[in-house]
Amino acid sequence: MPIPFVDLDAIHGPLHERIMNAIASVVRANQYILGSGVQDFERELAAFLNVKHTIGVSSGTDALIASLMALGVGPGDEVITSPFSFIASADAIARVGARPRFVDIEAESFNLDPRRLPDAISGRTKAIMPVHLFGRAADIPAINRIAAPRGIPVIEDAAQSIAAEWDGVRVGGLGIVGAFSFFPAKNLGALGDGGAISTNDDDLAAKLRSIRVHGFERRYVHAQLGGNFRLDALQAAVLRVKLPELEGWTATRQDNAFRYQDLFYQRALTAQLTLPDPGVGRHVYNQYVIRIPDGRRADVFDALVDAKIGCAVYYPIPLHLQPCFAHLGHSSGDFPVAEQACAEALALPIAPGLQPEQQEAVVDTIGRALGA
Ligand SMILES: *Cc1c(COP(=O)(O)O)cnc(C)c1O
Repeated sequence: MPIPFVDLDAIHGPLHERIMNAIASVVRANQYILGSGVQDFERELAAFLNVKHTIGVSSGTDALIASLMALGVGPGDEVITSPFSFIASADAIARVGARPRFVDIEAESFNLDPRRLPDAISGRTKAIMPVHLFGRAADIPAINRIAAPRGIPVIEDAAQSIAAEWDGVRVGGLGIVGAFSFFPAKNLGALGDGGAISTNDDDLAAKLRSIRVHGFERRYVHAQLGGNFRLDALQAAVLRVKLPELEGWTATRQDNAFRYQDLFYQRALTAQLTLPDPGVGRHVYNQYVIRIPDGRRADVFDALVDAKIGCAVYYPIPLHLQPCFAHLGHSSGDFPVAEQACAEALALPIAPGLQPEQQEAVVDTIGRALGA
């Protein structure tokens, strides 16, 4: 039996009727663009994140772009971010005309290393955008201690980490703004694209609401440039059904992570690979990423593919070596910790629906590939 990487049937199955009813009620009301359903979702999401405001937007990428626009980031500016992330973290910066400035990561957390931050800050640094990668919160308090005295805002790319916490504070409430994605495979997924921005700043929230609809101020008067960054009412209706389940799904992901840890120890495989470090905060395991050193990742990847076990390499190429950023002039060796992560990281199935026997099969397949 194949083991899927993410089993959306397992997630949506028990909610099928409620999801269909939610969709039907939007169709009956013919209210597709913003409206009370989107507002209700924004209020519920703000309560869940423990922030004052959330703004529903069209995707996680647009959440980042709108946040950068609201903070006035543009040509001539630099924004510091991680070289080990999904492309959107850096392409959002480039899309508003600014220059991504990369800072290498910590090996254990896969997140931007705050100790390397001071050397990267210049007179052009307009914002810092750490990424909470794979479900683990980045150390935003340490980043704030460096950024705040210099007046530099911190934008959290929380696309992979809804419900993760640092010191009991949920991501999205640690910086000036947080960007979330509801891409279907994220921990809270829509039935298509969607995203949200969180903030505790009233002025910024108002500005973001305006930017979401072309810089709308009042009818046919546009205070600033914006875009069409709206969250669909249909997606908001579906997300309202799914949000109350998120705590349970998160607990399942954490249970699955502990079970993997037990299994890897039982099979005595921990000398040949590195398990994810849960860190001090609350890890929500959007991805369960192990490291396989010494050039052996390909052996394990091939064995999993042969056994029809879903797995993925996040990320094979660091952002500074992406062809679209060739003009930044980087070469391999510039961010060695990120480059090593690209060579060693392997994501295993972790999402709700994964069965204990399937986890055993995953670990046994890895053990055999490593000759253990
Ligand atoms: C998914 C993701 C995004 C972009 O979200 P979309 O909704 O796909 O636009 C941004 N940053 C990170 C780290 C992501 O994983």
